[in-house]
Amino acid sequence: MSNLTFEEMNLSYEIINAVKDMGFEEATPIQSQAIEKVMMGKDIIGQSQTGTGKTAAFGIPCIEMINPDDKRLQAVILSPTRELAIQICEEFRKLLKYKDSIKTLPIYGGQPIDRQIFALKKGIQVIVGTPGRIMDHMRRHTIKMDSVKLVVLDEADEMLDMGFREDIETILEKMPEERQTVLFSATMPPEIIEITKKFQKNPEHIKVARKELTVPNIEQTYFEIKEKTKLEATSRIIDMYNPELSIIFCNTKKRVDDLVEQLQGRGYFAEGLHGDLKQIQRDTVMKKFRNRTIEILVATDVAARGIDVDDVDIVINYDLPQDEEYYVHRIGRTGRAGKTGKAFSFVVGREIYKLRDIMKFTKAKIHLGKLPSLTDIEEAKTNSFIEKIKAVIEENHLSKYINLVEKMMNEDISSIDIAAALLKMNLYDEDSEDIDFEDTFTDTEKMVRVFINIGKNKKVRAKDIVGAIAGESGIPGKSLGHIDIYDDFTFVDVPKKYVKDVLKGMKGKKIKNRKINVERAKNK
Ligand code: ADP
Ligand code: MG
Repeated sequence: MSNLTFEEMNLSYEIINAVKDMGFEEATPIQSQAIEKVMMGKDIIGQSQTGTGKTAAFGIPCIEMINPDDKRLQAVILSPTRELAIQICEEFRKLLKYKDSIKTLPIYGGQPIDRQIFALKKGIQVIVGTPGRIMDHMRRHTIKMDSVKLVVLDEADEMLDMGFREDIETILEKMPEERQTVLFSATMPPEIIEITKKFQKNPEHIKVARKELTVPNIEQTYFEIKEKTKLEATSRIIDMYNPELSIIFCNTKKRVDDLVEQLQGRGYFAEGLHGDLKQIQRDTVMKKFRNRTIEILVATDVAARGIDVDDVDIVINYDLPQDEEYYVHRIGRTGRAGKTGKAFSFVVGREIYKLRDIMKFTKAKIHLGKLPSLTDIEEAKTNSFIEKIKAVIEENHLSKYINLVEKMMNEDISSIDIAAALLKMNLYDEDSEDIDFEDTFTDTEKMVRVFINIGKNKKVRAKDIVGAIAGESGIPGKSLGHIDIYDDFTFVDVPKKYVKDVLKGMKGKKIKNRKINVERAKNK
């Protein structure tokens, strides 16, 4: 079945115009199949991957069936997390651009309940919330369900994973009999089937076939590298493409924490997202990512699920995913909404077989790539800098600076020298040396492991180590390799040629106000 345009569906002009303003050209497969059925009042089960537009698939019909003159609650959307509830509400607000008499409200734990009660009194027709907090309001009778016509369970499998089953059942039991129940889920475990049997009437199962899930606008590349060089490879990719936002996937929470440390140590604005964080911490991280206070999000699959941020330029599979389906989920974070994105995967040794499976499963073309050398990165930086210069000249607000240049020229400095000096100051990092990737890093012989007798127990982090070594021995922080921090000690890989500088420079120095001892690691 080919995708429908929104004009082909029986939608109001307000929605058609809103969708146009949102930049949607045509409906996605799940939208093409679900919207009209939900509008007809059918119970459906919608199954498709993350990033396939499920929010609008239920949002559009939900809005179309709301009576704007009735100020009572008419639709309830259940969502697993506060983050998702807010995202759904934002999408609703965009869809409601030309129907602004319909009011929506996110309802989630963590926000003062009084404020929600106050807002609810203003006549809210659609609430989007987490099951726990909605239950709370039901107990207090601040939300009444008797006028509800439509209930949506979004990311139903995720809600069950988070232990919301009982709450969901209680909420559904309190709903009017003749309501419509719509459920979306990426997977269909038996528990979900039970819920649909218990609470839906003759549901129709709409499943978007996997082959429609591969995302064509993503350039996919893999690198065959060693575990030890992943960190350096990540830096190179980030430096080369200079993405505004990127997501890096690791397979475990520990790997996320470690990588975040190492990236922060190298001066990147990175933070981690995984299941051990409390909801409130996850929210904070996501907020920072959205407003670009951090540029790199390091995440596990589960933590990143359902999270929708547009404009992710690059996805890096730091670890190849265990599950082939996750590959599709992960790279779907970039190249959204018609933009082009890039996905990079690191492949270590025999993992190449896993990658072949992924290619077979996704029918994706993943090309073998060569990691950027420092020269490549320098060239990319130079080019983008030259572009910036051209843009500034074009803007033409330069008279103040031209005066300065003329002044310097009167002192017999040539304009070419001035320009060259400015370029040097802006472009070239005196520390960086033009060495080839393979040359430096696949050859572990060129790194020497150094032992420092301080570790986690003294709250030492990678950036403290890098800062201390770079500061005390005057070597470039970026030249340091892997850093392993244990409870009472730390190992750092130092390029052979700098080992003497480091041992000398660190002698008798302090980290975190403690005198430390630095020596070559014994056996390696
Ligand atoms: P899902 O819930 O399936 O993970 P979302 O509803 O979060 O997916 O949508 C993912 C992104 O795709 C959002 O930024 C959304 O605005 C965008 N999107 C949704 N439908 C379309 C469409 N028909 N055309 C282009 N972009 C769309
Ligand atoms: Mg969703």
